[in-house]
Amino acid sequence: MIIIVVNLNLHFLFSHTNPFLMGSFNLFCFFIIIFHVFVATPIFSHSSSSISTKFLDLAKSPEVFDWMVRIRRKIHEYPELLYEEFKTSEVIRAELDKMGISYKHPVAETGVIGYIGTGKPPFVALRADIDGLPIQEMVEWEHKSKVDGKMHACGHDAHTAMVLGAAKILKHHEDQIKGTVVLVFQPAEEGGAGAKRVLEAGVLDKVSAIFGLHVAPAHDLPVGHVASKAGPLLAGSGMFDATIHGKGGHAAMPHFAIDPVLAASSAVVNLQQLVSREADPLDPQVVTVTNFHGDGAFNVIPDSVTIGGTFRAFSPESITRLKDRIHQVITGQAAVHRCTAEVDFHEDKKPLYPATINDDKLHEHFLEVAKNVVGNKNVHEMQPVTVSEDFSFYQEALPGYFFMLGMKSHSGEPLATLHSPHFTVNEDALPYGAALHASLATTYLLNHDGANKIIDMDFGLAM
Ligand SMILES: [Zn+2]
Ligand SMILES: [Zn+2]
Repeated sequence: MIIIVVNLNLHFLFSHTNPFLMGSFNLFCFFIIIFHVFVATPIFSHSSSSISTKFLDLAKSPEVFDWMVRIRRKIHEYPELLYEEFKTSEVIRAELDKMGISYKHPVAETGVIGYIGTGKPPFVALRADIDGLPIQEMVEWEHKSKVDGKMHACGHDAHTAMVLGAAKILKHHEDQIKGTVVLVFQPAEEGGAGAKRVLEAGVLDKVSAIFGLHVAPAHDLPVGHVASKAGPLLAGSGMFDATIHGKGGHAAMPHFAIDPVLAASSAVVNLQQLVSREADPLDPQVVTVTNFHGDGAFNVIPDSVTIGGTFRAFSPESITRLKDRIHQVITGQAAVHRCTAEVDFHEDKKPLYPATINDDKLHEHFLEVAKNVVGNKNVHEMQPVTVSEDFSFYQEALPGYFFMLGMKSHSGEPLATLHSPHFTVNEDALPYGAALHASLATTYLLNHDGANKIIDMDFGLAM
């Protein structure tokens, strides 16, 4: 309607300056007015808060919600491990095809990068991880994993459905998007650093911000609640395996053997001091030994023992320090006990994951959007957690923001933790994730378009 007023003013101006032009311009204005009367009837001026509310209504509508549930269940039935997400990738591409969303494939083996909007800057990305885990599902339900020993036990099936849900909403409003939303369906989050491979493919070079979420069974967050914080949110991590070589022999005559069990035990005990005695108490760090294997018998000292585990910290310096010291302690303790040791950090297969550190400005953006989508009282500040996410690779390359999405039902039933064979997704959370994704991207583009702080959007629920 504002445009009509502007056109009438121009008409008025022209009618007093050039009578010849008047005729054709008059006609032009007439058509503009007619056009807007027809097309503009259901158009309203909306603030970003109104956009968020309407997106949540859309995401909750059966057409979007039921569709997301169907996709999530379909993906859940056929979980695939890192860099083998071929069927999952196919499902994603089929849905993008149906929606008329263009995409690049393959990216990082099985990844799919979709595009909605003008195809021009600014670019903002929404990320979903698509891989499952080598876990046998123990939940008995209609859509239980049909692949033995594999399960979507980290909710990545739900993450994928939610970004597709956001895509459906955004595609419906594509002509009103002030820039380009980049959909990132990324493989191999679980140990394969798929995010790093996506970045290396160069597909995010023009992107100026990226958003990601994780379903949160362990944070006591109900459905419709979210939590995050500025700065360090999740730890960086690495893994290690070590083999300690001694000399096997009869357990009754240890002086003829070189005992790797004692050397490995000493290494495990001494690894404990890396955090308790060497780390700044105000800089949280973890070293955990999770396995210890020797192939001796009750009366046999083995030739060698293997140990392994993980380490976590919130800064690159602390991660590097832990890595160096783990190597020194294990080889040093092996030497003390006349053994030798090899330590492998498997960085070729699983690079060290950086800490997930949220951008301060995007935190402000998230707070504004999340309060509009889920309500002020349902947006929570959370403490950092020592789990890791490969979303952190994106944040090393560009401003990024990661948050937790509540799943706890209102009856308060506790949910199994992530990576548990009993893990379940509360599908009621899906519309919140989809609406948050869509709102975070749309309002980010609005705020960075430079011209439009208010958007005219058709929020008709019919899609
Ligand atoms: Zn996981
Ligand atoms: Zn995960």
